[in-house]
Amino acid sequence: MTLSLAAPHAKGKFATDKIFGASAAANKDAAQYGKDKVVNATIGAILDDKEALVCLPTVEKVYRSLPINEVINYAPIAGLPEFLEAATSLAFADNRPEAYTSAVATSGGSGVIHHTVANYTEIGDTLLTSDWFWGPYKVLCQDALRKLDTYTLFDEKQNFNTKSYESKVAELLRKQNSLVTIINTPAHNPTGYSLSNSDWDSLLDVVKNAAKDQSKRLILLVDIAYIDYAGEKNECRAFMKKFTNLPDNVLIILAFSMSKGYTMYGQRTGAMIGISPNKDVAREFADINQFTSRATWSNINRGCMRLLATIYNDKTIMAQVEKERAQYYGLIHARADIFVREAKAANLHMLPYIAGFFLTVPAKDPDAVCNKLHEDHIFAVPLGKGIRIAVCAVPSFKITGMAAKMAQAMAEV
Ligand code: PLP
Repeated sequence: MTLSLAAPHAKGKFATDKIFGASAAANKDAAQYGKDKVVNATIGAILDDKEALVCLPTVEKVYRSLPINEVINYAPIAGLPEFLEAATSLAFADNRPEAYTSAVATSGGSGVIHHTVANYTEIGDTLLTSDWFWGPYKVLCQDALRKLDTYTLFDEKQNFNTKSYESKVAELLRKQNSLVTIINTPAHNPTGYSLSNSDWDSLLDVVKNAAKDQSKRLILLVDIAYIDYAGEKNECRAFMKKFTNLPDNVLIILAFSMSKGYTMYGQRTGAMIGISPNKDVAREFADINQFTSRATWSNINRGCMRLLATIYNDKTIMAQVEKERAQYYGLIHARADIFVREAKAANLHMLPYIAGFFLTVPAKDPDAVCNKLHEDHIFAVPLGKGIRIAVCAVPSFKITGMAAKMAQAMAEV
């Protein structure tokens, strides 16, 4: 037996990271056979066609021009007010609902999830998300001694499965009074699906119906990590207007992140934006989450907050950032289009991709298929029920032919 000094609840914690494992295998293969031979579809960041990590040029320019004191100094625990204003305004664009909103700076979108788990669920509670989900959701729940359950994202026609969501909500609310659902849309990781406006209507009907029981609290955490690569700015945010006139016992939390939208992944900057029809709930949101920030990481990255405020407050700079980002959105979409087209031709079934960094091919034995693909020097991430392809990171010329090889690997395992 190995010696353990960990507290009982912490014993056995170990994050097995499939993404890290797949990425390490790709790097090893590249070192052996040369980078040009290897397709590394494991990386969740934008790489250009030369496979170099992209920083939006204007973001880099503004960041490098910040006074050093704005980079090194502490920041208010709740976040710089100018940052919170910019983050809120950029999150909604022209789709601000009629409701009270309040915002607290967080360590990226991950920080939003952390605080939501901490402050809107009890120890032992179960949170809900779809069966295709970003793995760290579960780690964040487990680390906080909560559980994560799933509903089925797609029905047999590949549409949003409202019925499955509805039955899980009812099931969990029989056991607990507060339910947090994490919804990653638009441009969902790992499928690339975006809830349509009518999906949103059905989902909100379920929520409003459940909220008729005044003893229940329903919290929707909308993870918008990929929203800036999801299509036309206001079209892909139109659902936010629907957060008008919700019942008092429903709270919406937007997880705003600078990781993808501003290519500031490692700078750990984001914000949680609470939306409620009730002034007290909005005020409480600011108070309790600020308190948890103090207790978790103190303040976050001042330089990156100042960066967003600077970009937002200069129309020319903002327009330039949006233009550069649109070019990368186009690049990623063009890569995905190749895969989707070739998958159709090869009879390879994939989940509905609309936009975003990833697409997913369902598989019976994802690990076996991924291992088989290594023979073709293709590296992707095996999930529980499928294989995730990071189109954000693979140049078009390497995407070409990939779907056919995947179809073949599927047939052979
Ligand atoms: N949500 C999803 C679905 C993600 O894929 C990521 C990052 O990969 C995040 C949230 C959070 O990113 P960050 O904490 O860097 O903002």
